[in-house]
Amino acid sequence: MKENILGINVNTDGYAELLPRIFSYIENKEKAMIVAINPEKVMKASKDKELFELLNRAEFQIPDGVGIVVASKLKKGKINQRVTGIDLMVRICQEAANQHKTIFLYGAKPGVAVEAKAELERRYPTINIVGVLDGYEKDQLLIQTTINDAKPDILFVAMGSPRQENWIESNRNVLYPFVYQGVGGSFDVLAGNIERAPEAFQKVGLEWFYRLLKEPSRIKRQMDLPKFLFKIIKK
Ligand code: UDP
Repeated sequence: MKENILGINVNTDGYAELLPRIFSYIENKEKAMIVAINPEKVMKASKDKELFELLNRAEFQIPDGVGIVVASKLKKGKINQRVTGIDLMVRICQEAANQHKTIFLYGAKPGVAVEAKAELERRYPTINIVGVLDGYEKDQLLIQTTINDAKPDILFVAMGSPRQENWIESNRNVLYPFVYQGVGGSFDVLAGNIERAPEAFQKVGLEWFYRLLKEPSRIKRQMDLPKFLFKIIKK
């Protein structure tokens, strides 16, 4: 099920319902793209028709930001929990390890995907990560061949938004993988370069506040949240 948040369709389901549906794309040899939706992206998309359409064309839009949950609550919708990009990625990795599906990590600064791979292998010894590539390689043909030669079932792209979504959209037709997820800074988190907020902050929906304390320059990005909520209430 999907629910409309200021024009963007967002999946209402949690991890447990989403995972089998994501893996069914691999079984059926069909392609699917997963995008993380947060208030910042909804606001960006409201000013950018192409991004707006791209986000709605994706097979899965996950409610990544707490603002999306709040928006759904305000309109008495069904989204009652966040599905974060990183947590979904980790669950997909765990399931891929169980089902013997293969993974490729593309993005972040040189060396980071290698460290993220090592961390995932430590957590899930049966995982099969068939390749990594940093997000600063310029040669598009080399990127395509490297990914296709590795024949991964799942491709995680960590290049920030909307760069990663645009890249997936323009390349998915010529690429081997079935499932594509844009995961932002997740490789950095797995590699231990960025700390996530303590769980206490995550649980009460204040992860954004913790990140603001750590990186005050995020205030510019976070100013989208009140604007977003104002728009929802006005509607
Ligand atoms: N990045 C990249 N190629 C680029 C620009 C950025 O691989 O050309 C990477 C960067 O190293 C970082 C990630 O993209 O790992 C951006 O993460 P950010 O936290 O900004 O993503 P978002 O907040 O959009 O999810």
